Amino acid sequence: MRGFRAALARAASRSRAELQTAQRRHPSDLAHRLSHSGASPASLSFGIAFDIDGVILRGRSPIGGSPQAIRRLYSEDGSLKIPFLFLTNGGGVPEHKRALELSELLGVHISPSQVVHGHSPYRELVNRFEDDLIIAVGKGEPAAVMTDYGFRKVLSIDEYSSYFRDIDPLAPFKKWIVQKADHKVHPSYDVFEERVKGVFVLSDPVDWGRDLQVLCDILSTGGLPGSGRGDQPPLYFASDDLEYQAAFPSERLGMGAFRIALESIFNQVNDHQLKYISYGKPNPFVFKNAANILEKLAMSIYPCLLQTKELKDQHLSTIYMIGDNPKVDINGALKAGPPWLSVLTRTGVFRGKDNDPHFPADLVVDTVEDAINCILEKECIQ
Ligand SMILES: [Mg+2]
Repeated sequence: MRGFRAALARAASRSRAELQTAQRRHPSDLAHRLSHSGASPASLSFGIAFDIDGVILRGRSPIGGSPQAIRRLYSEDGSLKIPFLFLTNGGGVPEHKRALELSELLGVHISPSQVVHGHSPYRELVNRFEDDLIIAVGKGEPAAVMTDYGFRKVLSIDEYSSYFRDIDPLAPFKKWIVQKADHKVHPSYDVFEERVKGVFVLSDPVDWGRDLQVLCDILSTGGLPGSGRGDQPPLYFASDDLEYQAAFPSERLGMGAFRIALESIFNQVNDHQLKYISYGKPNPFVFKNAANILEKLAMSIYPCLLQTKELKDQHLSTIYMIGDNPKVDINGALKAGPPWLSVLTRTGVFRGKDNDPHFPADLVVDTVEDAINCILEKECIQ
């Protein structure tokens, strides 16, 4: 591992200009090494996971040379050459929609299987909540995402709240609400009798004040606002990011901040502690799931390898996590352990000169383009 890190560090020490000069000088050599790597069993040896916010995009704008960096992972005919995926704690829209959006922004074809959101693991819970009423919280289309996963009785917190008159005493003062959601006059389910059996936070809540109130109601009463106290229904968070890098120059409060607010308030108004489960990076489960997806991708890129028995069970020997948040991306890769290696960029949450003191990455670079240059250089040398 030490030699591996040293090789990465050596590659990183080369400036981007040097790499570009080398490519100009020996284009066929580099192309040969890449294509050789792409055609041999060695091509299965590595995969890449990209964080999105602060690495690939800021808001909706590509950053750090991300379009050209990602394009290097494709062959000239547009087919995928290197297995990679996006591993983000963000979400709020179905994976197929996010794949389409990323394809447009980056100018390559991204398949839905290459998008892993913080809430993607919720699909594994469909059987448990098959016929139960559940509430989906967050910006975007949280209810559509859960329905897409196979949950049958889903209401967004917007719709659910709208059926309970006066549940949000501040609603009349919210003059900024210019567009009312298109809610049915009558709910699809008997929300005044049927208890909510699960609450799923998929993305950053929009109306914190109302959501804190309504969630405290649901979670304190056993799933029926306005009724007496009852057992807390299960509560899930898609991630626990305290802050994230969006379009504003400094970080914004994320889902982890909302979780802290909800937990503090719930614990004050109840005589027991809030129970919850958080997914998303740095949870090692997320990295294991991503590794499985990358291995399947590798097999789909090189189907002939499936016929080779020894390679059937082969795992990727290296998976690079490229992220901007030491606490989330780098910590996650560290916790996951081999085959994960971490690359920290300076385009988002992290802006330090050296490495992060608490969660040091295997490699620190300025941009995602630098990261890809180093990785490809390193993999081609081998
Ligand atoms: Mg990020």
